[in-house]
Amino acid sequence: MHIKTGDTVEVVSGENKGDRGEVKRVLRGRLAGRQQGQPNPDDVRVIVAGVNLIIKHQRRTGNVRTQTGRIEREAPIHISNVMLVCPGCGKPTRVGHEFAEDGKKLRRCKKCGATIE
Ligand SMILES: [Zn+2]
Repeated sequence: MHIKTGDTVEVVSGENKGDRGEVKRVLRGRLAGRQQGQPNPDDVRVIVAGVNLIIKHQRRTGNVRTQTGRIEREAPIHISNVMLVCPGCGKPTRVGHEFAEDGKKLRRCKKCGATIE
């Protein structure tokens, strides 16, 4: 996968287009979707800090510690709607994969050629 937790991404389509934030979580398969059933390996979504906020109306449940009322939280965004922001050139970019001499996998910005951790 070309995007990991901790990356900065930019939303490239949808109503949050242009927003940037740090990836808090990457959700795959059944975790990412709302439907029950078989996990879909292509269904990958990311939670981006401060982007795609929704107001969740949390009702009181049996758990006393549950926060109730209106809670603002990030909704998952499909991975195809975000692009990695290159730390080198600061632009949303596609990434290429290659292997370093020590065998470690590297990501490389297709725009400026910088390697991305
Ligand atoms: Zn770059």
